[in-house]
Amino acid sequence: REARIRPEPVLFFSGELEEQLRRNREMEDQMEQALADGEFVAYYQPKFNMATGEICGAEALVRWQRGPSHLYYPDQFIPLFERNGFITEVDFCVLDQTCALLRRRLDGGLPVFPISVNQSRLHLQEEGYLQRLTEMVKRHRVPPNLIELELTETAFNGLERLDELAKQLKKIGFLLSLDDFGSGYSSLSLLGGFPLDTIKLDRTFMDRALSSSRSQTIVQKVVELAHEMGILVICEGVELPEQARFLLQIGCQHAQGYLYARPIPADAFEALCRQNAPVAPAADR
Ligand code: C2E
Ligand code: MG
Ligand code: MG
Ligand code: MG
Repeated sequence: REARIRPEPVLFFSGELEEQLRRNREMEDQMEQALADGEFVAYYQPKFNMATGEICGAEALVRWQRGPSHLYYPDQFIPLFERNGFITEVDFCVLDQTCALLRRRLDGGLPVFPISVNQSRLHLQEEGYLQRLTEMVKRHRVPPNLIELELTETAFNGLERLDELAKQLKKIGFLLSLDDFGSGYSSLSLLGGFPLDTIKLDRTFMDRALSSSRSQTIVQKVVELAHEMGILVICEGVELPEQARFLLQIGCQHAQGYLYARPIPADAFEALCRQNAPVAPAADR
């Protein structure tokens, strides 16, 4: 039975698979040079306080600028880099650019706010991660509490070492954020067990809330619970005014989404900040 069923889909998809493998090989051949040439570029998506319209932070999101006309999005290369380990270099490159941005703001006497960077779960297991992180903020003379590390639920699997690491990161002063909250199964238990500063409500979590009153209650209670624990709540992927209204109604003031702004290059982000008078996200802590 096995022998009959298994080869068929492989044959059926082989053209597509081959093409994918070829693209992956090409990306692997080019990635080191691309890093050296500065092709991995951090874009910034502002986080807003919906109640005041002010920028209260940003998330760094990587793009691969391959030549003048090709912009590659994370889903096109991050899964590959997570398999071959290169994601570590990309994440540190994004952190480097983010520290530089914060340093420019500090030097210019401009308002500063924490900026978050996504951390692949791969680093957390790597020897020397903590030291490399610390050295980078030191080199830029950026206070660690302006850097927020975004981790997803899967990073928390196999908890023992991460528990210890999380404590150390907090001790140095980094902020910790749980990304895609509500998209998996253990979000709620992580709320109690880790020294989180922020949770980011997943877009799908909020979408469900708008479709049934029970789900609505769940989201509302999660927001209340987080606030009671002193955790900041940011909703991701807000696209529609009715989503913003719902969030404000249940006491979630902070959002990141196309309704307010898309991810943009650093210079465009800084220009936006000049118009917007950013503030720190303290209102609902
Ligand atoms: P994420 O960390 O959950 O980032 C949010 C994603 O949602 C971003 O996609 C962002 O552009 C998108 N988004 C923001 N607002 C809206 C909205 O209103 N509607 C919709 N439909 N989407 C919205 P992006 O930039 O393509 O990144 C995808 C994922 O790739 C990220 O999800 C993150 O998991 C990963 N990623 C991005 N940059 C990095 C990085 O530097 N390092 C690592 N390790 N992962 C990264
Ligand atoms: Mg994120
Ligand atoms: Mg997310
Ligand atoms: Mg995500």
